[in-house]
Amino acid sequence: MLTVADMSVSYGPICALRQVSIHIKEGEIVALLGANGAGKSTLLRGITGLAPASGRVQFKGRDIGVMNAPQRVAAGMAMAPEGRQVFTDQTVHENLMLGAYLMRKEPQRVARNIEKYFELFPKLRERSGQVAGTLSGGEQQMLAIARALMSEPALLILDEPSLGLAPLITVDIFRALIRLRREGTTILLVEQMARQALAIADRAYVLEGGRVVIEGNAAQLRDDPRIRQAYLGGD
Ligand code: ATP
Repeated sequence: MLTVADMSVSYGPICALRQVSIHIKEGEIVALLGANGAGKSTLLRGITGLAPASGRVQFKGRDIGVMNAPQRVAAGMAMAPEGRQVFTDQTVHENLMLGAYLMRKEPQRVARNIEKYFELFPKLRERSGQVAGTLSGGEQQMLAIARALMSEPALLILDEPSLGLAPLITVDIFRALIRLRREGTTILLVEQMARQALAIADRAYVLEGGRVVIEGNAAQLRDDPRIRQAYLGGD
């Protein structure tokens, strides 16, 4: 589904990503782990076209390196960004409509998708007419994910969906991700909560200092002493 080869990204003199190569197969949840500043968000920005990156990005068999961010959304990838970034003065329903701009000429399809994601996140249905800025953090995260899904992406990219959320809400969100995978969405998940991410992921990469330092099956990584020491609290 996605192959990133030798991607590097610099912010002026700072090299934030150094020759990173990752791949994601159709139907997988792939986790991207690493400490603050390791380069996780930068890798997502390179993949989604939000940061100029060197190297190659292939998506669904096509070279997409020359595409800008909106073209990559149209090609089938969508991101729920870190910090959620919902439109705070628009209602839940309006936020979802904005996520569906590619299908704006197909109102029935849009309505069907809204119904689908209200079913996935029932809290959003209850809050449909409420402005997003007054939602709880967890509800805003659900909205950010649902809004990204409104473009019917083949690849859903999530930047730290658990950030600042209570553990129980995180469980709800991760359950939704498992369901989305079952229904055919491929997911790239950046997470600080390594234990939870490895519990739902098929494979994972660990970034350190802008490089991939460990990669493997999630089950193997859960038992890897380096991961246990650095990311799972040593237990
Ligand atoms: P976090 O979990 O804290 O978001 P991260 O792994 O996502 O961390 P990045 O945000 O990708 O890390 O940052 C990687 C490096 O690039 C850091 O050293 C950061 O300071 C730097 N960086 C990120 N964005 C910019 C920017 N716009 N300008 C300059 N440096 C940046």
